Amino acid sequence: MKKVVKFGGSSLASASQFEKVGKIIRSDVNRVYVVPSAPGKRDSKDTKVTDMLYQCYALAEAGKDFSEALEKIAERYQEIIDGLHLQLSLAEEFQVIRKNFQAKAGNDYAASRGEYLNGIIMANYLGYTFIDAAEVIFFHEDGTFHAEKTDAVLSERLKTTERAVIPGFYGAMEDGRVKTFSRGGSDITGSIVAKAAKADVYENWTDVSGFLIADPRIIKNPEAIETITYRELRELAYMGATVLHEDAIFPVRKAGIPINIRNTNAPEDKGTWIVESTLQKAKYTITGIAGKKGFCAVSIEKDMMNSEIGFGRRILQVFEDNGISFEHMPSGIDTMTVLVHQSEFEEKEQSIISGIYKATEPDNVELESDLGLIAVVGRGMKSTRGTAGRIFAALAHANVNVKMIDQGSSELNIIIGVKNEDFEAAIKAIYNIFVVAQV
Ligand code: ASP
Repeated sequence: MKKVVKFGGSSLASASQFEKVGKIIRSDVNRVYVVPSAPGKRDSKDTKVTDMLYQCYALAEAGKDFSEALEKIAERYQEIIDGLHLQLSLAEEFQVIRKNFQAKAGNDYAASRGEYLNGIIMANYLGYTFIDAAEVIFFHEDGTFHAEKTDAVLSERLKTTERAVIPGFYGAMEDGRVKTFSRGGSDITGSIVAKAAKADVYENWTDVSGFLIADPRIIKNPEAIETITYRELRELAYMGATVLHEDAIFPVRKAGIPINIRNTNAPEDKGTWIVESTLQKAKYTITGIAGKKGFCAVSIEKDMMNSEIGFGRRILQVFEDNGISFEHMPSGIDTMTVLVHQSEFEEKEQSIISGIYKATEPDNVELESDLGLIAVVGRGMKSTRGTAGRIFAALAHANVNVKMIDQGSSELNIIIGVKNEDFEAAIKAIYNIFVVAQV
C-alpha cells in the first residue's frame, strides 16, 4: 500500500501546523511521498508566501530594492525552522534566490521558491529524501505540461526513492527554466506524483473536512460529501464549488487512483472520497448543490420557429461570432432562450442583438438580467422518483420563482435558474429538503 499525501498552504503555514502534518504522516507508514505547498496564511489578515514572492520579485524586476521584502520571506521560514527545532539553515538558498532575482530569473521561478524551500524544510523534518520538482516535472516549450516525459522520469526516480518530499506547483521546461502551474497547482503535482508512484490513494490534506454538500457561506456548517464521482465533481466544480485544482483530476483519474480530501486540523474525519465510479449510494438523494450568479437570458421569439430549419444554428452562430460561449439553451415551440454570462454579454449586447435580427428576423428579442444558476447534482437522482418534484415543491414553499429548468440528459443534474436575489433562499430550500429533512 502506497499513499501520496499533498498538504495545502494553510496546513503548512506555521511550525505548529507542520507538527500536525508530521503526526499525520508518521501515523501511517504508507504515506511515503509528500507534496507540500508554500506556507499559506496563518490567520485571515496574513499573506501567503507565494504572494509575498510575487510582490518581492515585482520590485526586483522594476530594478527597485527588494532586500526588505525578501528578508520578510526568510523570516517566515526561519520561524518554522526555529519552531520545529531543526538544525537547518536556508541562508545559502536565499543567497542564490537573491542573485537569481537580480538576474531577473522570472515570475515563475520566483513563485516556485515558496514550495521549493518548504519542501527542503519538510524533508529535513521528516527525514525523507528531497527531490527538486525541476528534475522530475516537465513542461513543453509552449508552457503546457509534458505528461509523458514527467511520468517516465518521475516513476524511475521514485522506484529508487523509498520516501521523498517533492515540492508542489512547479517543474522545468526543456531548457531548464522553472515553470509553474496556475495558482493552486500543488494539487496537480500531487496527482502527477500519485500516478507516477502507482499509488493506491492520493490524499489531499486541506483545512476543511472534505467537499461540502453546499457552500458554507450560504449554509451554516454543511455536511461533507462522503463519496463523489469525478463526473459529479466536475458538474459541481463548474458551478463554482472548489476544493481541488480542476487539472488535478486528470492524472489520477486516468490511473484509476481515488482522491481522499482530508482535514489537517481534524485528521480523524474521514473526508471525501473522489472516485471514478461507485456502487455506494450517496447518503442523500443528492450529492451536492452549487451555483453561480451573474447570468442573463436572451429570449428569441418567432412565430413558426419550430419549422424553420437552421434557426438554432443561426442564433448560436451570432454568439460564436461575438466570442461568447453559452451556458444553457432551453427552448419552446416558438421561443428559444440562450443563457450567458452577463458580464461578457453586456460588452457586446448591441452587436449580438443586431446580429440576431439580421440572422433570423425574429418577432421579438427579450433580455432578462441578474439570474443565478443552481446545479443540483447527484448520481442517486437517476434511480429515485420524484426528485424534481421535491425540489420544486421546496422552492415554491420558499417563495422562489423558478425562471428556468434544465435537466442534463445524463440525469446527473438539474439546473435551475432563479433571480439573483432568490439565489441563497433557493439553495437553502434545496439543502433543507434533502439533507436536513433527509428525504
Ligand atoms: N503556492 C501556490 C499558490 O498559492 C500553489 C499552491 O498552493 O497550490 O497558488
